[in-house]
Amino acid sequence: MLIKQAEFIKSAVDKNSLPPEDRIEFMFCGRSNVGKSSFINMLCNNHKLARTSSNPGKTQTLNFFEINHEFYFVDVPGYGYARVSKSIKETFGKMIEEYVTTRKSLKMVFLLVDFRHKPSEDDCLMFNFLKYHNLPVTVIATKSDKIKNSERKKCKEVILNTLELKEDDKLIITSSEKKEGLGLVLSTLDSVIEK
Ligand code: GDP
Repeated sequence: MLIKQAEFIKSAVDKNSLPPEDRIEFMFCGRSNVGKSSFINMLCNNHKLARTSSNPGKTQTLNFFEINHEFYFVDVPGYGYARVSKSIKETFGKMIEEYVTTRKSLKMVFLLVDFRHKPSEDDCLMFNFLKYHNLPVTVIATKSDKIKNSERKKCKEVILNTLELKEDDKLIITSSEKKEGLGLVLSTLDSVIEK
């Protein structure tokens, strides 16, 4: 697939403001500054679509983007910014929890982690929460261009081991700078849509 159309539709602040549940939805989440906006913009080939370096800690809204007039990307605000994670509820907000656990049109979650760092406690919490609710998760390691080739294997292992990824969990290594992983992510979208 190629993404030919991408348009911001709305920010939902509560379940009443969600768009109708009539399209496949892909959710994107990760800690603030992980490179999520840059990643969404790379997928859509649009440098301005998702705002980069959005101010952390702002109100939690789900941001819906219509893609190819066919499905939605749902951008979730970055988590884990100067907050202690005591429970999913506190960390990600009740609205996001409700969305994730009840939204039937949500077919896959892309969980973004920084390729350079060990996934944080919040990353692990989010991954386990999504798996617990039987959501297919694709882990996206971002900013691969910042890693030396000789260090890639080790960084990959740290992510696999920390999140305890199983064989059917997907990990895609990406760089928005170099467009690494773009084809793999697009074919992952295809595999969900064609199901
Ligand atoms: P967000 O807060 O998760 O939406 O993160 P942003 O997309 O705003 O990126 C945070 C910072 O990381 C910005 O300074 C980006 O330019 C930088 N960044 C994002 N992706 C990449 C990447 O693939 N490579 C490099 N070198 N920098 C990146």
